[in-house]
Amino acid sequence: MPEANQPRRDANLSYPFEEKPQAGELVKVAEGINWLRMPLPFSLNHINLWAIEGDDDWSIVDTGLASDDTIELWQAIHNKYCSHKPVKDIYITHMHPDHIGLAGWLARTCKAELSITRSEYLTCRHLLDYSHKEAPQEAVDFYKAAGFDEEQIENYIGQFGGFGKFVRGLPHSYRRLVDGQVVKIGNHQWRVIVGSGHSTEHACFYCEALNVIISGDQILPTISSNVSLRATEPYENPLQDWLDSCQKLIDELPEDVLVLPSHGRPFKGAHERLKGLINEHESDMEKLKVECITPKRAIDVFPILFRAKIDRNNLLMATGESLAHLNCLVARGELSVTMDDNGVNYYQTVS
Ligand SMILES: [Zn+2]
Repeated sequence: MPEANQPRRDANLSYPFEEKPQAGELVKVAEGINWLRMPLPFSLNHINLWAIEGDDDWSIVDTGLASDDTIELWQAIHNKYCSHKPVKDIYITHMHPDHIGLAGWLARTCKAELSITRSEYLTCRHLLDYSHKEAPQEAVDFYKAAGFDEEQIENYIGQFGGFGKFVRGLPHSYRRLVDGQVVKIGNHQWRVIVGSGHSTEHACFYCEALNVIISGDQILPTISSNVSLRATEPYENPLQDWLDSCQKLIDELPEDVLVLPSHGRPFKGAHERLKGLINEHESDMEKLKVECITPKRAIDVFPILFRAKIDRNNLLMATGESLAHLNCLVARGELSVTMDDNGVNYYQTVS
């Protein structure tokens, strides 16, 4: 899921479709490509999914959160549009619950095959295994190091293991997607372009013939996708992965490609949007270098990075995102990090 940040808007994006799909309806956006929306019970209240019709079958890209509402809408869509041809393939961009939630249910219901990158598949299985278990000590120490107080740690422990609530059992086998691979979806060839940073091995699907990219959360028109350091990999540099992925997409996509994002409306202006995202993260890091002239904890830099109020609902995402920016500066040699006697990390600008 994206979020934590306020929407960031760029000029010069154009939105060719005025009307968004109503619940249980498809809207055609290109030859054989149909847009549908499913509800989300969060401040971000919808996800876009894509139903692609070929001569002999349907393919679905992303599935929505596992909820009774979404299942009902899928059944309505299936009965209205898809019942005359089989749904053969389920493609997943990445393992966040709003994307993968109903993949297992759809695959079983339609006898369809799941296609996903390996890292996204295995990470999802791993998080499902953690569901309803206790928070490990390493994760508690990670958030203590970021500056959480006792109450925030208790809240974290209470929330831990909720991933399975929104994901309904994955199939036990899948077709692996890799970067650069070409797959036939519907009647066209699509190239898989993998990005990293928002999620570890996020697949986008680019069709040169239609000049369309299904971008998942890798390119969004108005929201800045969350890029978080995770407790399982505290020494990683996901923000640099994200910046490199944005540049890779600029290099690989034509400027006038139609972007089909997971949130917001289809748009044109991918290069402008991606450059805007790179610039915002770089400018945030410049501000952090000034802020950290006196040592700061991860939780101290929220006002630099977020306009939104940070409360218990968005604290984890905000902390992950702050740590991603701080770790990127540490990796660049711009900040040093020192742990005090209480296990709390302080970041300071290298003079
Ligand atoms: Zn996501």
